[in-house]
Amino acid sequence: MDYEVFENYELKKHTTFKIGGNAKRAFFPYTTEAFSELLESLNNPLVLGGCSNVIVSSEGVNEDVIMTSKMKGYVIENNRISAQCGVKVPMIAQEAERKSLSGMEFMIGFPGSVGGAVFMNASAHSQAISDTFLKCRVFDTEKKKILELNKEEMKFGYRYSILQDRPYILLDAEFELRPGSKEDISAIMQRNLEFRKEKQPDLTLPNAGSIFKNPTNDSAGRLLEKAGVKGLKYGGAAVWMGHANFIINENNATSKDVSYLMNKMYNMVKDKYTIELVPEVKFVGIKSKEEDELWNTMLKK
Ligand SMILES: Cc1cc2nc3c(=O)[nH]c(=O)nc-3n(C[C@H](O)[C@H](O)[C@H](O)COP(=O)(O)OP(=O)(O)OC[C@H]3O[C@@H](n4cnc5c(N)ncnc54)[C@H](O)[C@@H]3O)c2cc1C
Repeated sequence: MDYEVFENYELKKHTTFKIGGNAKRAFFPYTTEAFSELLESLNNPLVLGGCSNVIVSSEGVNEDVIMTSKMKGYVIENNRISAQCGVKVPMIAQEAERKSLSGMEFMIGFPGSVGGAVFMNASAHSQAISDTFLKCRVFDTEKKKILELNKEEMKFGYRYSILQDRPYILLDAEFELRPGSKEDISAIMQRNLEFRKEKQPDLTLPNAGSIFKNPTNDSAGRLLEKAGVKGLKYGGAAVWMGHANFIINENNATSKDVSYLMNKMYNMVKDKYTIELVPEVKFVGIKSKEEDELWNTMLKK
């Protein structure tokens, strides 16, 4: 089979947060065929892409882990782009720019994969991945077969796709872009990069992007700032002074440090505004008793 496998594999070297224990086994398929075969044979594996929206438990992960990062193939034909799930989104945004195709300018500067971006319906600067999405192939891990889903079947919403509620793993996806002016596309991408530079920590300060989702018609960053979370720290994790909806790993933070800090932020906004923020980042792996309680509160379980 066309994959590599490693035992007792340290996950923190892949996560943008630089947090995460070991996977007993980590598989790296090179093709979507090998990926599908692994999905068919392994028992409920955890699939990870760019690891930029996850808090991986410092205790590690019990399930087998499949990393999609070696599936990097994509094809551009006319104004359509087909990409395997492991392709990094800035890479296809830049390819689209080269071909004067518009619709993916927002994907410059964030470290997600196609699989993770579709799973999350990633968005920024008034664009979302759902805008250009046409269809995808998923592996149904219950029925053990490949399905094709169109845009309607994906039920995209704010930071939501059906992949979050069904046993579907994205293999590859096709997008339809609009022909545009290369100059305009490049200018928008440059503006987006400058915005990020100003408003977001770069990855020299390990982080996982926005921690909480925006409530309807409001901004989580604004509420957190007003609630006074800037300057809060727990263990090695700290709220970034540049934007209150970012946590940075300042000094060997653990998943528990981040979970405690998130819970404190959540409670401060709840106490001041009676608004219950919902985490945008996903916790994966073994939850300690404390982490379980902290996350159950925030996810209202
Ligand atoms: C500096 C920084 C800036 C960011 N800016 C933005 C932004 O502007 N907008 C935005 O929306 N997000 C942003 N993010 C968050 C993140 O990059 C996106 O959510 C991204 O799309 C996640 O992709 P990923 O491949 O890293 O997913 P991962 O973190 O690897 O996984 C996220 C979830 O997707 C699942 N998943 C991954 N691959 C697959 C697959 N093939 N099939 C099914 N499920 C899968 C995982 O199991 C997990 O539950 C930012 C993050 C950082 C660190």
